[in-house]
Amino acid sequence: MNVIATTDRDLRPRILDAPFPIASAEQYVFSFQQAHGLSRDLLGGKGAELAEMTSLRLPVPAGFTITAEACRQYFDSGESLPDGLWEQVLAALTDLESQMDRRLDDPANPLLVSVRSGAAISMPGMMDTVLNLGMNEHVAAGIAVSTVDEAFAYDLYRRFIQMYGNVVLGVEGRRFGGAIDALKAERSVENNADLTADDFRELVGRFNEIVLDITGRPVPEEPHIQLRQAINAVFESWNTARAIAYRNYRGISHNLGTAVNVQAMVYGNRGVDSGTGVLFTRDPATGEKRLYGEYLSQAQGEDVVNGEVTPCDVDQLADDMPAVYEQLTSVVNTLENHYRDVQDVEFTVEQGTLYMLQTRTAQRSARASVRIAVDMVEEGLISKQEAVLRIDPEQVNQLLLPQFDDRAKVAAKSEGRVMTVGLGASPGAATGRLVLDPNQAVELAGDGVAVILARPETNAEDVHGMLASVGVLTTRGGATSHAAVVARGVGKPCVTAASDIEVDLKNNIVRCGDITVSDGAYVSIDGGTGEVFLGEIPTESPDVSNDQHLNTVLGWADKMRDLRVWANADSAEDALLARKLGAEGIGLCRTEHMFFKPERLSVVREMIIAAHEAQRGSADQRQQFLNALANLEEMQTTDFEGLFRAMDGCPVVIRLLDPPLHEFLPRYEELLQRSITLRASDGDVKDTEDSEHLMETVAEMREENPMMGLRGCRVGLVYPEIYDMQVRAIMRAAQTVSGQGVEVIPEIMVPLVSDKGEMVRIQDRLRGVIAEIRGGTSPLPMHKIGAMIETPRAALTADRLSECAEFFSFVTNDLTQMTYAFSRDDAEAKFLIQYLEDGVLTQDPFTTIDRDGVGRLVEMAVALARGARPGIEIGVCGEHGGDPSSIEFFHEVGLDYVSCSPFRVPIARLAAAQAKLRAVA
Ligand code: PEP
Ligand code: MG
Repeated sequence: MNVIATTDRDLRPRILDAPFPIASAEQYVFSFQQAHGLSRDLLGGKGAELAEMTSLRLPVPAGFTITAEACRQYFDSGESLPDGLWEQVLAALTDLESQMDRRLDDPANPLLVSVRSGAAISMPGMMDTVLNLGMNEHVAAGIAVSTVDEAFAYDLYRRFIQMYGNVVLGVEGRRFGGAIDALKAERSVENNADLTADDFRELVGRFNEIVLDITGRPVPEEPHIQLRQAINAVFESWNTARAIAYRNYRGISHNLGTAVNVQAMVYGNRGVDSGTGVLFTRDPATGEKRLYGEYLSQAQGEDVVNGEVTPCDVDQLADDMPAVYEQLTSVVNTLENHYRDVQDVEFTVEQGTLYMLQTRTAQRSARASVRIAVDMVEEGLISKQEAVLRIDPEQVNQLLLPQFDDRAKVAAKSEGRVMTVGLGASPGAATGRLVLDPNQAVELAGDGVAVILARPETNAEDVHGMLASVGVLTTRGGATSHAAVVARGVGKPCVTAASDIEVDLKNNIVRCGDITVSDGAYVSIDGGTGEVFLGEIPTESPDVSNDQHLNTVLGWADKMRDLRVWANADSAEDALLARKLGAEGIGLCRTEHMFFKPERLSVVREMIIAAHEAQRGSADQRQQFLNALANLEEMQTTDFEGLFRAMDGCPVVIRLLDPPLHEFLPRYEELLQRSITLRASDGDVKDTEDSEHLMETVAEMREENPMMGLRGCRVGLVYPEIYDMQVRAIMRAAQTVSGQGVEVIPEIMVPLVSDKGEMVRIQDRLRGVIAEIRGGTSPLPMHKIGAMIETPRAALTADRLSECAEFFSFVTNDLTQMTYAFSRDDAEAKFLIQYLEDGVLTQDPFTTIDRDGVGRLVEMAVALARGARPGIEIGVCGEHGGDPSSIEFFHEVGLDYVSCSPFRVPIARLAAAQAKLRAVA
């Protein structure tokens, strides 16, 4: 394993005054008391927070952390424990024994420990844990005597063999599950709780046989051997296929490694006044301020997290054990105030005593994230700046998560298609084909099929299937089950605890009462309400402009940012949506999109063909060309009027025709085929001739490299009448609408400029066109003629260009294409994905601006342009204008605005404020 910059080796402590004898210069093991203040990079999240909670004097069972650095070295050195580590573990164990006043392998007073993974970045459920370590035959017997509870002792023992067998020795979990089910069937009982001490003893025997049978060796009796092997296994769990897949999905570095936490066991399964729970200090789905979580009486932590049982609401604890509940409330308040953020905690109650086992910053839905940020500002816990910085702009995307079309949902209900209502565990609605097998989910999703994965419960082995699905449905587990946590983390709708449903994995069907649904059938789930429906229900995106909490945060963000946020919109409808979402201008209206409407395409085709033929000097064709242009002018004028009205008081940047002309013409191959068919079938002579004529014209206009051919301002120079028409339409519309009291700020943008000569000629001609309009009834509004910077040469000569261009816009899709010489249409399929997978490139330059190359051109061009024309307005309108990381760069180089698609406007508003806040921090 290569350890790279993510490991801050300078932070590695060299504490030599530790109570443990240090066998080497490097310390890998820290008690929770010692570890306080060390970095998460070393301790992992869980270790760091255990140390923090210990320092806050909260009730944390004693323990120690083996650093992630030890894990990194374990992999570096071919998977052997680093020198000195084991001696440090033994020393820490001795210390732990004396703190707990219990000893490993002492039947009279045994210490059992948990061995838990914990990386610097949370990877819920992806790595391994072993509980009750230290168990063996005589320790179990000793516990049976000292607790006078044989069932408890042998249940612990079987739990240990089950986990150790699975995690350390690699025995499939279902082998143990099968043995439990078989014994329960033999005893005619339903629940583990109904099993007796003898039954657990019997299970211990059966489990040991399973382990011996499969691995050829027994579970070691000696606790030190158990621990050493468990540490190795937890290190190894960093590199299981599921952990790697999760890190790839979340973009987490593979070099971090995991820390290992060894902690004295406390027993939630110790009787009626014991139990275990998981809770969030605020509702992670809505953000509401209330304890939200689950508690399972007489159980150990894994029973809750793995979703095998559906627990009760944590509030139940208030009735069952009021004093514990009160203490828990006070502890989590302390934690929330200390971290100034919502916590997700794990706790255990052993015979009426509360213990905290974990705290971490809670993952939350986008809705909750926004609400919590606003509430915490109001509560005085954080500042507005912190609130703005806390929200991941990409998460705002989740607020646009689809919901069911209301009417279709009502109809589905009245048609009796509600199968059941489970627990809404992760918001959003999804509709897709039912799939029970995670591998099949991946396969179908690869073919573009939307699938909903149904499982009894999920575990880490199902994650790839969950990631491929549009939604997840489980019959067991609660709001903190594996399925719920993973789905919320990745923003997928999820319903859990749909207990009326039976997921029959053997027969690949789902049953609900007398309904049977086969895999492949459509189902729909609502992860907000928990409803599960038969059949398809169309989904739609919500109106975020009505989201009060989001608008509050965005309002704060707006006051903090320098960059203005404009939108790319080509119609009045899009412009209105963009404004509703906070756009302060239109940074790109692609006029050719107005031509793509079917009723217009024929006029555009006619215009292009006539323009081409008129070059041969035919007066008829010229007239036809001018007629088609006049037709288009009327249509465009109406369009622009709508756009200007929608953007009253805001600038509107309109790009003159940009793409290669042949994009509007029928495909040559199709025309060839048609002509051949007409000829072969002796069809109508005129039809045949027309088809052939069109084919020849299209053939003449074909180009080898159309993206670098006759497009952009080159069209404007070869066929100047086209740009004349567009500018007349723009300025006539501006004149009309401003005459009606609308404030119009038109900016005419000339595409694909690479030489000042092009700009000068076009500008001169367009000024003439505008001058002709001036004589109308109302005055012409102020306007600008500017240039798009989308060729490297334009960027390199921005000083010269700015002598005539009155504004610039970086058109970074094309600029990236031209700078890298990566075809936008072909790169992805042909090589870009491989480049990214192989690490040739670390990010897709069409998504996030390439700072080193394209970015450098942008930076140079800004400096050149501002030097020559101080105050010149400069923006960006490629896809990068809506990408948070690129926005940070555009802020740094001092652009005036970013322009992006309407739905990304809220994201850009937030990202622009964050860029400013980070820059001044
Ligand atoms: C661009 O090239 O960045 C751009 C906005 O134009 P289009 O995507 O229409 O090519
Ligand atoms: Mg472009």
